[in-house]
Amino acid sequence: AAAGMGGGDTGSFKIDLRNVVKGAVKTRFPPEPSGYMHIGHAKAALLNYHIATLHGGHMAIRFDDTNPSKENTEYVDAIIADVERLGLKFRGPITYTSDYFPQMLDLAERLIKAGILYADDTPVEQMRAERMEGIESKRRNRSVEENLAVWKEMVEGTPEGRKCCMRFKIDMKENNAALRDPVAYRCNETAHWRTGTKYKVYPTYDCACPFVDSLEGVTHALRTSEYKDREAQFYWVLKAQQKVWPGLPDVQIWDYSRLSLVNTVLSKRKLTWFVEANKVEGWNDPRMPTVQGIFRRGLQLEALKEFILSQGASKNVTLQEWDKLWSTNKRIIDPVCPRHVAVKSEGRVKLRLNNGPTQPEVVSVPKHKKNPDVGVKATTRTKEIWLEQEDAQAISEGEEVTLMDWGNAIVQRVSKDEGGSVTGLEGVLHLEGSVKTTKLKLTWLPDISGLTPLTLVDFDHLITKKKPEDDDNIEDLVNPNSMSKCAAWGDANMHELRKGEVLQLERKGYYIVDVPAAQDGQPAVLFSIPDGHQKKL
Ligand code: ATP
Ligand code: MG
Ligand code: MG
Repeated sequence: AAAGMGGGDTGSFKIDLRNVVKGAVKTRFPPEPSGYMHIGHAKAALLNYHIATLHGGHMAIRFDDTNPSKENTEYVDAIIADVERLGLKFRGPITYTSDYFPQMLDLAERLIKAGILYADDTPVEQMRAERMEGIESKRRNRSVEENLAVWKEMVEGTPEGRKCCMRFKIDMKENNAALRDPVAYRCNETAHWRTGTKYKVYPTYDCACPFVDSLEGVTHALRTSEYKDREAQFYWVLKAQQKVWPGLPDVQIWDYSRLSLVNTVLSKRKLTWFVEANKVEGWNDPRMPTVQGIFRRGLQLEALKEFILSQGASKNVTLQEWDKLWSTNKRIIDPVCPRHVAVKSEGRVKLRLNNGPTQPEVVSVPKHKKNPDVGVKATTRTKEIWLEQEDAQAISEGEEVTLMDWGNAIVQRVSKDEGGSVTGLEGVLHLEGSVKTTKLKLTWLPDISGLTPLTLVDFDHLITKKKPEDDDNIEDLVNPNSMSKCAAWGDANMHELRKGEVLQLERKGYYIVDVPAAQDGQPAVLFSIPDGHQKKL
């Protein structure tokens, strides 16, 4: 495996990268700084890094900011922090497509002089229809002089210039519609977040991407496979640019499949909506498919890498299950996370052990039954202990049960109110009894004042539809119950848990500490980590 890639099943990960010079491979992660990184972007960044390091090369980051309207620096900082959170090393300096605006204006002039670009003022809708039908624009055969004159108007942003765009003169009869004279430059009056109103005309992605990749010495440009139809266009455009800009090196495209996950939208526009409509608490809400959200929910980096690299180079666009990711995560956390006990506050009920210890007894028990490296914790045994209501209801009078980390007890009396809720239990310890003979293995807490107050939070998908379509109205799909909270008490050791620690609550599942318990009695907030089995608390 490449440096920095944690173990896991990546053996099947074969890539047919063409034109490789060992040690000279350069890839780039090209985010548009218009939102936070989501798990799909994480796939892009991980693959770029993985492929570069596999070949002894390196990855760079270039912010793709050709669209003046949507970007801002908050997103730049967040994306850089997330790339680092993913443990990915990139070679600087960080660049921006907008760094190259001056060269791209020069490039346009050269392309016009070479007869490769023409100015077109066909209205947008009509141009779209003509491209669909393969109809040439009536402006297609303008002279170089005329095109240069219009270009000047565009650069200055005059009313005449603003009506026009510059198009590559390729072939309107091409079967591949991406080659039917795509737009290369267009006017935009919106101030650019970095260059302000200095420029009135901007290159399109289709024009900027091959040029800047080549200029920066990117050897391999990774693109998601829905751009497959535009691959020929990329090579055509680069070749045209090489004709007028001597020394531009070749760039090889390598395509991979876009990640999509069930019950999830991965579009920055839609995720922004969730934040702005206050459907979530922010970009780092644990229900968000953002890098920050999934880590806050308890996903381990190693699990994410394994999940993404196990899809490897497959070009098949498949709808992935979150369960697969979370069960990988469980396999990683289960052997190493400490185990604790919690009892739900509502309806908790006391079991009195008539032969139990008269004074509280403190004993040391392992934090993990199968892994002694996790350490030990203190547990207190008292004459009266707390059980969860649901457990108490499952006990029949006279039944022998096992109290975990203690031993067996025989429950002689179960008192209930009219509604059937258990109000108290009485019994005796039967420590010589065998665990093998009991049906119920119960978690319990001692009756002491030092228990840890907890808020347990469970989450569900943000949207109710398994496979949302692009044109679905997102508001119709919002799950109204994507978060539920429950008060509980935890063992006294849980006072020591710190933010971000992962643990197992015995018989409940895995949790991550979002807010540690406070001195003033404020409860610790624990987020449930899915384990891939969709069990509800
Ligand atoms: P979105 O609308 O989800 O933000 P985008 O492509 O507009 O997608 P970019 O910031 O341009 O967002 O994406 C940065 C990089 O991540 C690009 O190389 C893009 O192809 C890739 N990428 C975006 N979404 C996914 C995804 N779901 N799976 C894999 N790669 C993705
Ligand atoms: Mg994009
Ligand atoms: Mg987008």
